Amino acid sequence: MIEVKALHKRFNDNEVLKGVDLALQPGEVVTILGPSGSGKTTFLRCLNFLEHADSGAIKVDQDWVNFNQATSQEVMALRRRMGMVFQNYALFLNKTARQNIMEPMVLVHKVSPTEAYDRATQLLQTIGLGAFGDYYPAQLSGGQQQRIGIARALAVHPTVLLFDEPTAALDPELIGEVLKVMKAVKQAGVAMIVVTHEMQFAYEVSDRVIFMADGAIVEQGTPQQIFESPKEARTKAFLSRFK
Ligand code: ATP
Repeated sequence: MIEVKALHKRFNDNEVLKGVDLALQPGEVVTILGPSGSGKTTFLRCLNFLEHADSGAIKVDQDWVNFNQATSQEVMALRRRMGMVFQNYALFLNKTARQNIMEPMVLVHKVSPTEAYDRATQLLQTIGLGAFGDYYPAQLSGGQQQRIGIARALAVHPTVLLFDEPTAALDPELIGEVLKVMKAVKQAGVAMIVVTHEMQFAYEVSDRVIFMADGAIVEQGTPQQIFESPKEARTKAFLSRFK
């Protein structure tokens, strides 16, 4: 169970998140849509403490942690339960695909190198890159690199994976292979919060779609509710651009 309460964040005079609440069931997939600048990326970054939220609290499996009073132990413990997948993959360029997947297992979770090697090899198969374990990121396509990014986040058995526009940097023909891996993650029962502009993915894969604007959740519901009969004028205006 993942819960976020009253998350507030401002950059100087700019109030970017105006008290966002969210609760996810285990294994639930939630997609966040919204116009540019509405605070989607900042929201994800605050959950993972990559950005410092001004107030609010988060709970992942265990106790509530206040964003503005968290100890470094609490932040580490939360991060262990949350994997993050970035738009630009954020792989270590001087490490192979397999080493990238092994790194957080060995360094953060203290898994033995042998066990980490085996799990990385297994994950490489799962994402369709069984033959690419010894390749460096520069030798892989953007889609392949992003699949490695997902495998790396998944390797440590997180409760929830956070995706920040995972296909935004990809050529259109490479997007499908990444979305396929994300569907497989859902099948494996890992909860996901996905910021994306991929409407088809949001429609087909999400359990719930959230429409965010001006730092607040405007409307949320099943993909059918949001795409077929949105209630709020701002949601309608936003979605009409994708028809
Ligand atoms: P997009 O869809 O374009 O990625 P978004 O909904 O993810 O947009 P954010 O990137 O979260 O929006 O940005 C929300 C607001 O916060 C914007 O006004 C942005 O300029 C501002 N912002 C984000 N990061 C910073 C920062 N490090 N310093 C100052 N302002 C920032």
